[in-house]
Amino acid sequence: MDRQNVKRPAFTQDDLEELRTAIPGPRTRELTAGLQSFESRNVTFVDERFPVFWESSFGATVTDVDGNRYIDLTSAFGVANTGHSNPAVAAAIRDQAVRLMHAMGDVHPTQVKVDLLEKLAQITPGDLSKTFLTSTGSEAVEAAIKTAMIATGKSAFASYRGAYHGLSIGTLEISGIEKFREPFAALLPKQTLFLDYPRGEDTFEDVRRALSSRNDIAALIIEPVQGRSGCIIPPKGYLSRLRRLCTSLGVLLIFDEIYTGFGRTGTLFACEDEGVVPDILCLGKALANGFPISATIARPEVMDAWPISAGEALHTSTYLGNPMGCAAALANIAEIERLQLPQRARELGAKLGARLQALRANRKAVDARGRGLMWGLELSDAATAQRVVVDALRSGVILLQAGLSGNVISITPPLIISERQLFRALDILESLL
Ligand code: PMP
Repeated sequence: MDRQNVKRPAFTQDDLEELRTAIPGPRTRELTAGLQSFESRNVTFVDERFPVFWESSFGATVTDVDGNRYIDLTSAFGVANTGHSNPAVAAAIRDQAVRLMHAMGDVHPTQVKVDLLEKLAQITPGDLSKTFLTSTGSEAVEAAIKTAMIATGKSAFASYRGAYHGLSIGTLEISGIEKFREPFAALLPKQTLFLDYPRGEDTFEDVRRALSSRNDIAALIIEPVQGRSGCIIPPKGYLSRLRRLCTSLGVLLIFDEIYTGFGRTGTLFACEDEGVVPDILCLGKALANGFPISATIARPEVMDAWPISAGEALHTSTYLGNPMGCAAALANIAEIERLQLPQRARELGAKLGARLQALRANRKAVDARGRGLMWGLELSDAATAQRVVVDALRSGVILLQAGLSGNVISITPPLIISERQLFRALDILESLL
C-alpha cells in the first residue's frame, strides 16, 4: 500500500487480525538474537512466546515482520489516539522534515512552535496558557516539579501510592511504585508525602489531615485516572474536593494527564469531566500521536514565577519545541477535532464498558473499570493476566498487562478503532478468559 497517497479518513480503516505464521514468526526470532546481543538486557522481556517485532501499522492494526496483522487494544501505551501512522500527522512530519527539521529551542524559535503554544492555550481548560515544551512524559513532569518549586519556594510534593509519573530521578521521587525507586533510593531525597489513591471508600479526611500536617509541600500531583497501576478511577467529586483543599492550603495542584489526555477518557482532558482546572497540567503520549513531544502548561501567575530569560534559560533542552514535534502535534489536534474523538471515546467506551462489565458479571474477571476508551480488566493474578496477553497475541490481539501486581489487562485502543475491530478483539479476549 502506498501510504503517501492515503487520503481516506482513518475511520474507514477496518482490517481485522490475520495470522500467517506461528507467533512469534521466524523473522521475529532472527531479529530477537540481535536485540539480545546489543540492547541493555533490562529493556525487553523475551521468551519463547513473546514479543513480536513490529513492522508497520495503520489505524487500529499493527503488522509484524512476518506479515501477521494484529488488532491493537493498547494504542502503544495510549499514544496512537488518532490511529497508528495517522496519514495527516505523518504528512505534517514529512513536510516539516524537508523544510526545517530542527531549530534552536530556547534561542531561535519557529512559527510552528508559537502556533502549537497558542493551540494548547486554546484547548486546555481554564486559564492554563503558558507552556514549557519537552520531549517525554517524565520531562513534562520534571518541568512541573521545577515550576512548582520556583512558584512556591518549597521543595516537597504530595503524591499517591501507585502513581506513575516517569522514571527519571526527579520523577522517581514522586513515583508511588516502590520497585522503580528501590535501586536508586540513595539518590532520592524521600521528602514526598504519599497518599492512598481513592478506591471507592471516602478517604478525603485522611488527605486533608496529611496535607495540613506539612508546611513544606509545593504541590500535589495526581493522575486523574491512575493508568499504569490498573486504571483506577477516583470517586465522583474527589478532584473537585482536592482542588478546594489545595487552594485553601496554598498548595499547587498538578494533574498528570500524560495518559488520560487527548480524548482518551471521553473528554479532551480527564479533568473536564468534573470541570476542575489544575494549576499545572502535564501532557505527553497522544499529544502528537507518536512523535516524542510533551508539554507542561500552567496558569500565568504560576508560570510567570520563572525569571525572564536574561540570555540563558534555567530550564530547557536541545529538542525543546522541535519543529517536527510541533507540526505533528498541530496536525494531530486537528484530527482529534475533525473526528470528534472525545465524543467517539464516550460512545464506543460505553459499549466497551458494557462488554467488560458482563465479563465481571459472568465471573470471568474480578473487576472491570474505566471511562471512555481507557479500561482495566482485573483478573485473579498476574500469571493469569500474562497468559491472557501472550495467548491474545497468538490470536491476533495486542494487549498490555498493568496493575501494581500485574493482574490487570489494560484496554486503551486507538480512539478511531472501528466497532467491528473492537468487538472482534473482545470476542478473542473473552474466549481466552
Ligand atoms: N505520567 C504518566 C501518567 C504516564 O502514564 C507516563 C508513561 N506511562 C509518564 C508520566 C511517563 O512518560 P514517559 O514514559 O514518556 O517518560
